[in-house]
Amino acid sequence: MTSSDTPDTPATPVCSAKGCRTPAVWVLAWNNPKLHTPDRRKTWLACDEHREHLAQFLGLRGFLKDVVTLAEWEARR
Ligand SMILES: [Zn+2]
Repeated sequence: MTSSDTPDTPATPVCSAKGCRTPAVWVLAWNNPKLHTPDRRKTWLACDEHREHLAQFLGLRGFLKDVVTLAEWEARR
């Protein structure tokens, strides 16, 4: 998820759901075993409203590894 079409990207990360501008509070960590090595983590950001939808999308494909709050995710790094 890049935001090359928004030059003035706000400092606050926003939800990855299509069309959603809500500040993200959740991080969904995922991995596609066909594309990524097992320890690689891709991340999607989500607001409260879209966390479940995005988690379900990834979960159905068997990609979802972890769902943590943004604060917790950043504290881990
Ligand atoms: Zn959202």
